[in-house]
Amino acid sequence: MARALSVTFLGTSSGGGPSPTRNCSSLVASVCNNGSLWMVDCAEGTLRQFYNQPATYDDVQHLKVTRVNKIFITHMHADHVMGIITFLRNVLYPVPLPTAQSQHHPKSDPTVEIYGPAGIRKFVRLNMKMTLSRSSDKYVVHELVTPEDTVTPCTTEDLHTSEAPGRDIVAEDGFWPEITKGSGFYGDICVDAGPIAHRDPCLGFIFRESVSPHRKIVILGDTYDPTSLVPLINQFSSSPTSLLVHESTDAHIDPHIDVKAKRSKETVSSTALARGHSTPDLAGAFARTIDAQKLVLNHIGSRFPAASGGGFKADVIREIERQANVAWGKGTARAAWDYMRVVVPAPEAEQEEVYGLSSRATLNHHGDVQHADGIYPRRSQNHNPRKRYAWS
Ligand SMILES: [Zn+2]
Ligand SMILES: [Zn+2]
Repeated sequence: MARALSVTFLGTSSGGGPSPTRNCSSLVASVCNNGSLWMVDCAEGTLRQFYNQPATYDDVQHLKVTRVNKIFITHMHADHVMGIITFLRNVLYPVPLPTAQSQHHPKSDPTVEIYGPAGIRKFVRLNMKMTLSRSSDKYVVHELVTPEDTVTPCTTEDLHTSEAPGRDIVAEDGFWPEITKGSGFYGDICVDAGPIAHRDPCLGFIFRESVSPHRKIVILGDTYDPTSLVPLINQFSSSPTSLLVHESTDAHIDPHIDVKAKRSKETVSSTALARGHSTPDLAGAFARTIDAQKLVLNHIGSRFPAASGGGFKADVIREIERQANVAWGKGTARAAWDYMRVVVPAPEAEQEEVYGLSSRATLNHHGDVQHADGIYPRRSQNHNPRKRYAWS
């Protein structure tokens, strides 16, 4: 199996979306050696994003929705949770009709485990109940709670018929270390969670190898200040963070780049902070704080469409990346686009290009794959799209 870890973005818009070029928040991480996928956030439309994957993905690169067995929810805002019910209805095997000769034997363990903040269990349960959703396979919700949180009980009377009793994982010294783990290529992949500052309670998740090479992926929910997560990021290994996914909802754009950009730098900064969000320089500064090796800007405001060609829209995206790079001190920050994939190779298998599978690829109105010009490397004419790319 693959030694490389990877993260594929299914939705990269802020809560102002979805937009014509971006769905709202969801990504999947491929970090386990059994082919399972771990999802972070599940906005409305996430399921459909699985079906609209670029034609350039080959059989290995294609993400199968049924491979998702864990979902990590950063916070309860609508742009991060409204796709969960649709997702569960699709991946949980339905209750067979009384007349059907079903060959399906319900699994004893839950098919999908959901981890998230207080409230997520009630949200999923009520929506499953009110939409009269039923399945023969089960899901489970484990809540990451503080001593002050109200626990949603899991008695037989309370549970949805498709729900298995979940754990209430109480914070230790403000963090939720090792909430779950999976088997990676070298050893266990452990998941830690901790609070980050947003206008409502919000989490950041750390996917880390418990043994060498100790690769570490830090994925943040919405935030204007994630520094409370730093002790947890450094708790189990002093290795640098291999990949940081940090929101960058707003950015000041100079009118010489976009003539319609009228807002001052101060206005953009103060508004972003007041709404609990970050600008590219804050993302870059945090990447510097935790010594991130790669930085991806995510949760991009709807005023910044994904640029599938050149022109001022691409210039705006490059400007967002430039601002992050100045604060970070490295030169390779990328503003995420839907279906962008970032690979974290094993140390002995470093690849030259690690951002994206095929340069910047997005679907146009006709369903064709478009490639951007500019700083993103193009594939050569004789490139074989079925060749395994950056996988080992
Ligand atoms: Zn959001
Ligand atoms: Zn939010």
